[in-house]
Amino acid sequence: MNELRDLYQEVIFDHYRSPRNYGPLPSANRDAEGHNPLCGDHVKLHLQVEDGIIRDVHFEGSGCAISTASASLMTEVLKGKDEVEAMRLMEEFQQLVTGTGEPEGLGKLEALAGVREFPSRVKCATLAWHTLLAALENQRVPVTTE
Ligand code: ZN
Repeated sequence: MNELRDLYQEVIFDHYRSPRNYGPLPSANRDAEGHNPLCGDHVKLHLQVEDGIIRDVHFEGSGCAISTASASLMTEVLKGKDEVEAMRLMEEFQQLVTGTGEPEGLGKLEALAGVREFPSRVKCATLAWHTLLAALENQRVPVTTE
């Protein structure tokens, strides 16, 4: 478990204990749901999108520390972004956690960079982002990482 302790940095623990933007969003006009069966993570995402800009975003669900912290951090960085910026962030975040690139400017999302040392946890970290893609595409069927 020492490896996992290294992975669970302070930022991750903080967002796991007190997730930001957690709960329903009555003004949402895009919703999506995602599962990571490997770990049992489940996330529901609610977005309020106006003129292509993400005005507000909330999430609900339950999962491990990595998936919860990742969803919480994601909701914080997405507010005010347009859909193109959100997709670019998703690609850069994917590079960050898989170690396939060294994206710069991801700010607090970089707290999850340690996930690259634990390939089995990458899907925990990317679940919220896969769900975001589904929400932006207005996909009605729940997404799964498998
Ligand atoms: Zn997980």
